[in-house]
This record gives sequence, structure tokens and C-alpha cells, in this order.
Amino acid sequence: MTVFIFLFGVIIGSFLNVCIYRIPEGISIVTPGSFCPRCKHPLSWRDNIPLFSYIFLRGRCRYCNNKISLQYPLVEFITGMIFLLFYLKFGLSFSFFVFITVASLLLIAMFIDLKFMLLPDIVMLPGIIISIIYALIYGFPYNFISALGFAVAFYALGAIFKGGLGFGDVELIVIISLLLGFYETLSVVILSSLIGTIYGLYLIKKENAGMRTKIPFGPFLISSFLLVSIFNIQVFYLPH
Ligand SMILES: [Zn+2]
Repeated sequence: MTVFIFLFGVIIGSFLNVCIYRIPEGISIVTPGSFCPRCKHPLSWRDNIPLFSYIFLRGRCRYCNNKISLQYPLVEFITGMIFLLFYLKFGLSFSFFVFITVASLLLIAMFIDLKFMLLPDIVMLPGIIISIIYALIYGFPYNFISALGFAVAFYALGAIFKGGLGFGDVELIVIISLLLGFYETLSVVILSSLIGTIYGLYLIKKENAGMRTKIPFGPFLISSFLLVSIFNIQVFYLPH
């Protein structure tokens, strides 16, 4: 079963790659079929097997011989692992399906945010709807109060430090807080700030980038959300 769940995640990951590439370009995610992003040559089924084709083709397009971005197998592998780890945590339950769906949406958002500095509503809004349903069942009313608190805090921070946190980040913290509640969301915020600070210092050192270099915060929030929700990481200890 675990192997099956992993492979299911890998296949979904392959679809997430399509969404990551096509949503910002405004191309339909259904048609046309897969093509090489460099030479636009349509891909046959054997060029398009998640993970395996990348290995068989040694990371190069069969038609134009250009390198295939490492992002493709990476997203497929990460999605497989996330599905597997949520399965080990939740079993085949309602929570499992909620968390893999939201994780999939947020993975799309994360890779688009890395490239384009935006969290597209077409993936954020379904995430909000699913997390509202989940919180109505498992976290009413506390997760809603928590989500409101974090949303106001993020919105205020965004307004004070202009350009720091965008509205997409407010939507993101609402989704996370509806699913996780107050304490775990606080862990997510602290962990993402830590990772963000370390990454910022690394960038400044490596590229001599000034403090003005813009870094999207979404990817740190999303990766921290996945770490906290999968591994129950608690950044601080509170007796409760
Ligand atoms: Zn090609």
C-alpha cells in the first residue's frame, strides 16, 4: 500500500508540474498534451513517465537534446514523499485526503511564487474552501478565531513593511491556521521566519545582494507548514 500511495503521489506530482508551468502562462492545463517547454515537441507516453523518463533520458529532451529542468523529477519525488508521509500519519482517512489536496495546491503555489512572486488565486481559493470545510468539522470555533488573528497580524505587517507580505501570504496563513489551529500555526510562522532569515543571510553572503533583494515569503511558509503538519514539529514548548 505504501508503494502504491508513493506512486500515486508521483503521478499527481507530474500533473502539478503541468500546473506550475501552465497557470502563469495562461495555457489550459488539459489541452494540448504534454510538450517540451524548450522545443515545444509533443511528448509521447514513454517520454512522459513520471520520474522514470527523466532517468532514462538522462535529463535531456529526446527531440532537442536540451536539459530538462530538475524541477520536474524533484516535484514528482517530493509529492510522492508527502503523500506517503501523510498516509503514514493519517491512514486512508478524510484528513489524509484533505491534507494531500491542500499540499498539492500549495506545492503549485510555492513553485509559482518562487518564479513569479505571486500566489495565484486559482489555487489559493480552492485551498481556502477546503480548509474552511475541514475547520467546520474539526476546529470550530477555535481554528476560525486563530485564522482571523493571524490574518489581521499578517495584513498589518504587510501594510507596515510595504512589500514584505502580500495578500497571497494572508490567504496562505488563513489556510494553514484553519487546518492546524493556533499553536501549530505559531510553530509554522516561527519556523518559516527562521528558514527565511537563514536563506536571506545566505543570499546576502553569496550574491552580495543588498537588503533590498525581494524574496517571496510564501515558499518558507508552505515548506514549514508541510514540515510541521507531517512531523508534528513544535518550535516551542507550551504546557497545554
Ligand atoms: Zn525539446
